[in-house]
Amino acid sequence: MIQSINPANNKVIKTYQEISDRELSEVLSKMQYAFEDWKTKSFNYRASLMKTAGEILRSKREEYSKLMTLEMGKPIAQSRAEVDKCAWVCEYYADNAEKFLQDEIIKTDSSKSFVTYQPLGVVLAVMPWNFPFWQVFRFAAPTLMAGNVGLLKHASNVSGCSLAIEEIFSEAGFPEFVFKSVILGSSRVKDLIADPIVQAVSLTGSVPAGKSVASAAGSNIKKTVLELGGSDPYVVLEDADLNEAVQTCVTSRLINGGQSCIAAKRFIVVEKVYDRFVELYVDLMKQKKMGDPFDESNDIGPQASVKLRDELHDQVLRSIKTGAILLLGGFIPDSDGAYYPPTVLADVTPGMPAFDEELFGPVAAIIKAKDEDEAIKLANKSVFGLGAAVFTKDITRGEKIAREKLNAGSCFVNQFVRSDPRLPFGGIKESGYGRELSVFGIREFVNIKTVVVK
Ligand code: NAP
Repeated sequence: MIQSINPANNKVIKTYQEISDRELSEVLSKMQYAFEDWKTKSFNYRASLMKTAGEILRSKREEYSKLMTLEMGKPIAQSRAEVDKCAWVCEYYADNAEKFLQDEIIKTDSSKSFVTYQPLGVVLAVMPWNFPFWQVFRFAAPTLMAGNVGLLKHASNVSGCSLAIEEIFSEAGFPEFVFKSVILGSSRVKDLIADPIVQAVSLTGSVPAGKSVASAAGSNIKKTVLELGGSDPYVVLEDADLNEAVQTCVTSRLINGGQSCIAAKRFIVVEKVYDRFVELYVDLMKQKKMGDPFDESNDIGPQASVKLRDELHDQVLRSIKTGAILLLGGFIPDSDGAYYPPTVLADVTPGMPAFDEELFGPVAAIIKAKDEDEAIKLANKSVFGLGAAVFTKDITRGEKIAREKLNAGSCFVNQFVRSDPRLPFGGIKESGYGRELSVFGIREFVNIKTVVVK
């Protein structure tokens, strides 16, 4: 049995029956069959359905937003923005897929040589709960437009979202089994990957899930894209606009209740402005309201579950034990829900959980650096490499640091890291490999085929 639980009050929303092995095998066969037809359809045809999916998202925005907020607790305004972004990615790939996957003629000694991008077949997506719609649509829009069919195993706590997404594709007119959601526990993913019908896997989730999926895929020689955790460093230099930097740093730490892979997690501030930054940062965090995620005046709702909230609190306590200074928050409120308040830890150093691990919640780790060089070293001293940002009024300096010095998949100057359908998204090191979005994302799950004619 799989349950979705409202994290705001810890009450069960709905219980779901897991798909049986026999039903799963039938689904796979039907998807394989659906693929044989879907891959022959024109880009125009696929694009018209994808645009309809975008229209459905926009027209039922409120319904989907409420569902997300109910199942995982994100503030309702952020759920609405997420639905809009899903519609955007549908429109983006509807408009651009054909251009991205056009044959490319290469001059050789033969009369004709070209590269063509052919779909692979059934692609499995194992997705997380934190952006229950966005993570799925940014996988599905390019994957389906390329002519593949998509099988979704969503996080167990957002099964309602999982089924709603399948319904959107069905209502948009996608043929049956071109996109299918299945409800099953993570222990069955390995066997699913091993099934000969499954051609490739996209996983967004934690590092342990990434290791498990990558090893199962590796031992079956199947392509994977892994979007894993992060501990994004935000470097604040002495010439930064401090007020603006603090605003951006607080926003990025609290977005989605702090449960974003690309949330700012470590703030590395040079000595000269450290004390002032800490003061402004704590002041602003104090003003942020926690409470019912359906109440628009609240900035953060509950964490996604009591278990995850308790794990976060344990990381905070262990950081304090190893020398971090608690300046705000850091306690479990008296409530049935999975609430955790905006929390600030200062004087964080390597060796503390707040520095070494991913803190997936509204907890800021502020770190002091002597100068730019030390700040960059500390920023890169991480097993992760997803996003990073630098704050300086000197744009040339900022650009150089972003381009050459910060080790991450996305580096932003004077703004917070965010995903955008037009830009590639992904990480290095334990943050994973492969890219989603843009032209790079749609070329992950295709056969880059060489054709040579004498
Ligand atoms: P998670 O526990 O790893 O779960 C993610 C998905 O993987 C779920 O569908 C889960 O299913 C499944 N799963 C878990 N363990 C598995 C295993 N051993 N084998 C196969 N599948 C497994 O992660 P989460 O708590 O949902 O999400 C938070 C994590 O995702 C954070 O680390 C965050 O940084 C990362 N994330 C990364 C990105 C990115 O783009 N890089 C974006 C969003 C989130 P069950 O729910 O059934 O266990």
